[in-house]
Amino acid sequence: MAQTIINLGIGHKESSMDENTLPSTVTAVTPPCMMCGDTSRIEVDRDQYLAWRRGTLIQQAFPEMSPADREHLKSGTHPACWDDMTKGEDL
Ligand SMILES: [Zn+2]
Repeated sequence: MAQTIINLGIGHKESSMDENTLPSTVTAVTPPCMMCGDTSRIEVDRDQYLAWRRGTLIQQAFPEMSPADREHLKSGTHPACWDDMTKGEDL
């Protein structure tokens, strides 16, 4: 099965992709996590993803997603890393 990878990081190619050929689910590559530097691949609904990239607020484009998962998709910060980071701020 062909998998469509969408890179959300610097130099992403989505402007050149043909939306009509995309499968109903696409795999988004997140930017590097600001804590650990790793990127992730997250499977998302194509229409929701495209709505988000066209300017829909992420919480409206992905209403069923948890805030931590939205943050992960948007910024690349892993939910676990985000926890560590926010815990650290209590010091
Ligand atoms: Zn991380």
